[in-house]
Amino acid sequence: MKKKILPILMIASMLVVCGNKKETDFQYSVDKFADIEILRYQVPDFDSLTLQQKQYIYYLNEAALAGRDIIYDQNCRYNLCVRRTLEAIYENYRGDRKTDDFAALTTYLKQVWMGNGIHHHYSCDKFKPNFSQEFFNNAVKSIDKEKFPLENAQTIDDLLTVLDKVIFDPEFLKKRVNQEDGVDLLLTSAENYYENVTQKEAEDFYNKMKNENKNQAQPVSYGLNSKLIKGNDSLQEKAWKIGGMYSEAIEKIVENLSKAKQFAENEQQKVVIGKLIDFYTTADLKTFDDYSIEWVKETAGMVDFINGFTEVYGDPLGIKASWESVVNFKNIAATKRTETISANAQWFEDNAPINPEFRKEEVKGVTAKVITVTMLGGDCYPSTPIGINLPNANWIRAQFGSKSVTMENITEAYDRAALKSGFADEFYWSDYERNIVKEYGSLTSNLHTDLHECLGHASGKLKAGISKDNLKAYGSTIEEARADLFALYYIADPKMIELNLLPNDSAFKAEYYTYIMNGLMTQLTRILPDKNIEEAHMRNRSLIAHWVYERGKAENVVEFKQKDGKTYVVINDYAKLRTLFGELLNQIQTITSTGDFEAARSLVEQYGVKVDKTLHAQVLERYKKLNLAPYKGFVNPVFTAKTDKNGNITDVTISYTENYVEQQLRYSKQYSFLK
Ligand code: ZN
Repeated sequence: MKKKILPILMIASMLVVCGNKKETDFQYSVDKFADIEILRYQVPDFDSLTLQQKQYIYYLNEAALAGRDIIYDQNCRYNLCVRRTLEAIYENYRGDRKTDDFAALTTYLKQVWMGNGIHHHYSCDKFKPNFSQEFFNNAVKSIDKEKFPLENAQTIDDLLTVLDKVIFDPEFLKKRVNQEDGVDLLLTSAENYYENVTQKEAEDFYNKMKNENKNQAQPVSYGLNSKLIKGNDSLQEKAWKIGGMYSEAIEKIVENLSKAKQFAENEQQKVVIGKLIDFYTTADLKTFDDYSIEWVKETAGMVDFINGFTEVYGDPLGIKASWESVVNFKNIAATKRTETISANAQWFEDNAPINPEFRKEEVKGVTAKVITVTMLGGDCYPSTPIGINLPNANWIRAQFGSKSVTMENITEAYDRAALKSGFADEFYWSDYERNIVKEYGSLTSNLHTDLHECLGHASGKLKAGISKDNLKAYGSTIEEARADLFALYYIADPKMIELNLLPNDSAFKAEYYTYIMNGLMTQLTRILPDKNIEEAHMRNRSLIAHWVYERGKAENVVEFKQKDGKTYVVINDYAKLRTLFGELLNQIQTITSTGDFEAARSLVEQYGVKVDKTLHAQVLERYKKLNLAPYKGFVNPVFTAKTDKNGNITDVTISYTENYVEQQLRYSKQYSFLK
């Protein structure tokens, strides 16, 4: 279900740029505020595409931007109103713009853009405004009311009554996605996928649908593309489609998809777009599956895209999908690497250290490619994954395979930006680790992503009658752990050298060291004091690292060492560590295959959630001195179409000069279609 790798602490794992890559003057770092650094990515080789491919990309890019408002509304129902109000102040405020209050409001607005709403994209906590309510109210009142998003008979005072609570009351809508054990996850989450619905009501509603259709070999993803609302005691789904919820934005998406279709590279791409348009028109989930199947089959073209209601991280129950888009074309040289992995998928499956009962007899259609991103949209912007594996429906993956991509021009931007961070000097135990990571870190990090996406998620099988949903709120953590462990186990396998994926039998240590150090220690830089770990990928990394640490304690496999009052992670036995990864993979595959909720809960709660407060405080302090931003977002390039007098596109050019604020304000003007 969850096939996104969010950037694993790049500063830890990707400090290296290959020596043979030429230096450029390209400015990777664009902006810095709060805990965020905004980066810019390049689109190498765009000029080598044909005019038709550029035309195709141009309209797919437009479709990627057209859905921007949807993710804001999905994340919380007040987000669009907050964004528009803040933008109106930012653009029209004629008072003193040099005050601390105005600076704090600007930072808050930048955070809202980064989170696609009032909550942090990663921690899901509500942003804390550092400007006063009085300043905010006076600023709003000083500006022409036409500039504000007033509904019907709403007055400025009405607007302020709502927004004062939304922005300034820390308890109201406190958490976007709450995953805390033992509370009603819907009533305590601020996302906008449910209205007046309790967790039990929603689970009953969808379990009933699933049970009624449980003998179907091809179940649709119930509830994927709708909001669930309770009114007058009955539950109703409000579908996201043309003529339904989000219609205005979806119409624009479809309009651009229709234009793109004319420039498709082959017939299958036209079929894919046709099915997607049908889905946006009807909201029929069977059509969505048909579309997904056609999309998986389309592998011949250079250009590809994701556009739609895709990942379910934003729903505490993992049912409803956020809207996202990524447009891309194939990176041919780097794709050779993942093709090698895919070509050997069956060997990896047959030799996996798991119960043979849970191995797939036949791993089908694992295609893998490295892509160059041209546009990020919706839930993939400004924060982006570095690898994606879709579709999410298990039966489609089993019967038709899936497409797996790694986004190398994005990781490249991370690499470059991290070069001078000083992170390795502060946190690595010795020059041995620093050198090995410097030499192989970039290579093994990309390889880990490939193994995770191409093989990890695609591996293993479920017992009859078991669904990944059995693990409920722990499902995504367990699934990410499964994919990571598959990658960690195999990256140290002699097969890597045999297949020419790694140059020698010590390169894998770069990935082992950065992974364990991150999971045990440095990812805590992303957690606020006194908080637990919430996000699925972070829980997964903590789970794996702490489990192997505990299990290997007697033999001192992984050790915490002290030097000058600072704590460091040291790996004493890399071979034994690999064995432990294999053992945990077996355990987690069994949990997944048998749908063992209690075992999943116990593993995640014991190893994945809790934070050692003393170590946490130390890590935060050391990290703070480096003055690094723990989270990265991106700006997109600007694509400009040159047209002839009939409006036909004759060329598409790229520029990299737009800054973060300019881009966000422009998007809000050009691509804001929802009321
Ligand atoms: Zn994943």
